[in-house]
Amino acid sequence: MRAPGKCPRLIQITFQKGIYLPEIDLWLDPPHSRQKAFISHAHSDHVGRHREVICTRLTQNLMNLRNAAGRRTQFSDLEYGQTLQLSGFELTALSAGHIMGSAMLHVRRIRDGASLLYTGDYKLRAGLTGQPAELKEADTLIMETTFGLRKYVFPTAAEVTRMIGDFVSKTFTEGGVPILLGYSLGKAQEIVAALRGIQNPVMLHPHIEKVSALLAPHLGPMPEIRAWDECNPRGHVLVLPPHVPQIQSLKEKFKCKVAMVSGWGLDPSAKYRYRTDEVFPLSDHADYPQLIETVERVKPKIIYTVHGFTREFAADLRAKGLDARALGQEEQLDLSL
Ligand SMILES: [Zn+2]
Repeated sequence: MRAPGKCPRLIQITFQKGIYLPEIDLWLDPPHSRQKAFISHAHSDHVGRHREVICTRLTQNLMNLRNAAGRRTQFSDLEYGQTLQLSGFELTALSAGHIMGSAMLHVRRIRDGASLLYTGDYKLRAGLTGQPAELKEADTLIMETTFGLRKYVFPTAAEVTRMIGDFVSKTFTEGGVPILLGYSLGKAQEIVAALRGIQNPVMLHPHIEKVSALLAPHLGPMPEIRAWDECNPRGHVLVLPPHVPQIQSLKEKFKCKVAMVSGWGLDPSAKYRYRTDEVFPLSDHADYPQLIETVERVKPKIIYTVHGFTREFAADLRAKGLDARALGQEEQLDLSL
């Protein structure tokens, strides 16, 4: 197998407490504060207080809303399909389909056309909100593999929407209050979109309401939203982030049924782990077939896997004759290729 990174045509990458492109002096979603970084999306494990940040305007607005940028951070907007020239390279943002504002980064070295695609978090399946992902061929593919095991095959968004609708109807019929749990940014908006066909109004926890208000112009038609009032939840569908203290008190005072919304719902033990009545597998990540499809469509010469089942997925790709390498946590500490 060709030694990874030795081919002179490939764009140089180093992995040292983050992914770094030395030819452009650019970090990709670095976990520590850096001079210049591309931020793929506004989830807390991808943002940081860097001096210069390249991201979409929506990601910038979400970072500012959550106070996740440094006071002196300088932002460069890069919208889907737009290209920025930097140190002899072209940087193009592509929709990642993960959450609102999420972007992949396609990098092309102008002098010889060598290319790289960094996916960040992504999914290919059309979500209920936001734009679908767009892929582009590249010599080097750095991809997330959160659900990189064969057993992770998600149902369609329409199927999960039906499951959520059935859960809500059954809970009301039994005289209870349905509670749906999802992270404030991304999943909560998908949950609310899944409730579009529900007759009852929806109450959003204030953390979710704050994010949803910023995203409202991009979300399309929504069910009726009422102001949060945890003393009078009857007749409403409640959407809360996981782990907020109100969940327990609501369960004690009212006849609540609680469902987590997460891709990990595919694991049979998920509802015991989350201590909920149900878990619905609506994910904002790619499942295994989508990960394979990504490799087939990008046609890379070399693949690096990050996040989740990196080793397992890279091994599956090697079994197909591809040059794939896992980038695990310990490798990120000090690995230069
Ligand atoms: Zn994310």
